Amino acid sequence: MVDELGARFATAGHEIALVGGPVRDILLGRGSKDLDFATSARPEVVERLLAGWANHVWDIGKAFGTIGCRKGEWVLEITTYRSESYDPTSRKPEVSYGDSLEGDLSRRDFAMNAMAVLLPSHQFVDPYGGMEDVANRVIRTPGSPEDSFSDDPLRMMRAARFAAQLDFTPDPAVVAAMEAMADRITIVSAERVRDELIKLVISPQPRKGLDLLVATGLADHVLPELPALQLELDEHHRHKDVYEHSLTVLEQAIDLEPRLGVELPDFVTRFAALIHDIGKPKTRKFEDGGKVTFHHHDVVGAKLAKKRMKALRFSNEQIDQVGKLVELHLRFHGYGTGEWTDSAVRRYVRDAGDLLSRLHVLTRADSTTRNKRKAEALRSAYDDLEERIARLQEQEELDSIRPDLDGNQIME
Ligand code: ATP
Ligand code: MG
Repeated sequence: MVDELGARFATAGHEIALVGGPVRDILLGRGSKDLDFATSARPEVVERLLAGWANHVWDIGKAFGTIGCRKGEWVLEITTYRSESYDPTSRKPEVSYGDSLEGDLSRRDFAMNAMAVLLPSHQFVDPYGGMEDVANRVIRTPGSPEDSFSDDPLRMMRAARFAAQLDFTPDPAVVAAMEAMADRITIVSAERVRDELIKLVISPQPRKGLDLLVATGLADHVLPELPALQLELDEHHRHKDVYEHSLTVLEQAIDLEPRLGVELPDFVTRFAALIHDIGKPKTRKFEDGGKVTFHHHDVVGAKLAKKRMKALRFSNEQIDQVGKLVELHLRFHGYGTGEWTDSAVRRYVRDAGDLLSRLHVLTRADSTTRNKRKAEALRSAYDDLEERIARLQEQEELDSIRPDLDGNQIME
């Protein structure tokens, strides 16, 4: 299929190459959803060349030179070679077309994403040592990381995202540039930051990306409530680090995710797990004897979560869902086996609504403690609660199908 496309472009006197993510993913032995191509042909020509070949052709952003098409079960994106220049006060590149594959690759974010395979010759093009980087699992920029991140600060978020997604480690020079330029992320639109943050959170190793965001100071700009969870230990060392706890709860939630019965990975559950204690720093009270308490951190946390998600332009549905989970995550703390009345259990179910299975996962994930006996007690208490919920729901179903007749009427 790919060679057919290459031959078609070659006959018309144009270069075309598979580029970026799919080339990297082939080397990683990882399946790639999208097939991205770069070509010397201008968008009008690309459209014409695809018209007689693909099943369906559409304009993804002709202004940026990208045309999409479907051929059989494949979806392709074909972008005209670009050479971009940047306005230093904004991240919007001024698009100007380039005439060489090398020029196109030089403007890409990382060496591992700046590899190409020319078609139909299958010539491998790797001007920045991307293959070696993939072998070593490192993230490096094609040129100096400072210049690259100054051209487009979103690349710093992408570095953290790829670290989490691919289990790669950024080169020390990349980390240093992220530290030095973290505040430049503020010129990037909230939507683009959000999209990278989502990809990071739903990745296999979110801890790796989140630690990088926090260590470099990027998190101070995009999700400041997260580094704020690094509360100091009190002099009795009784006060656990809420940041570390949050990452653990996130990882537990990932382990429990298969119980959800929704399409996985589930961003809402994971993000709620990450920020469920977001209200703690603001509600912390030191009591006599060195005891630390958090007053209403569920309510305050839900507010903070919603505010942050709104600033990051999350959808209203996601904001409501995460906010509700944060607000309800403490409710179970009042549950000792048997102590909740049926109406308290019903209220729990009603308040959770369609978030019930996510709330189960979050609360179970949060019920972890190093004390094995305590952890086991919490687990069995939650099993008990879920059983009671199931019993009540069965009962309600029975009630709802029972005919509105009394015994005599039924006899009649
Ligand atoms: P995936 O699709 O698995 O998330 P990807 O590498 O394909 O990973 P995309 O965001 O789809 O990432 O971008 C496609 C390609 O475009 C990248 O591989 C990279 O070469 C280039 N690219 C994307 N964003 C940038 C950017 N901000 N700066 C420079 N190059 C970029
Ligand atoms: Mg892609």
